[in-house]
Amino acid sequence: MKILIICEKCGHFVELVPVTKGQHVHLNVNDERFRISEIELDYDYSVDEIEEVTAEVKEIRFDCKSCGDYIVLNEFPRHVYR
Ligand SMILES: [Zn+2]
Repeated sequence: MKILIICEKCGHFVELVPVTKGQHVHLNVNDERFRISEIELDYDYSVDEIEEVTAEVKEIRFDCKSCGDYIVLNEFPRHVYR
């Protein structure tokens, strides 16, 4: 499986293709076409031990460097590592 990011304004696109056995995709495609940013982290502070604090990415933003259009992914239905 792969993720295809397409800017509908200017037509730039990038394919995010897994490069590891665990099907992980590196989000370091900060090249001339797109910038990918984690824009909000949510911490769970309602725990007794610091080891139990969990951080969760709430939003990921994709910016087209060519024309400035962007899209934000949010409201992920669940945390995959729970
Ligand atoms: Zn664009």
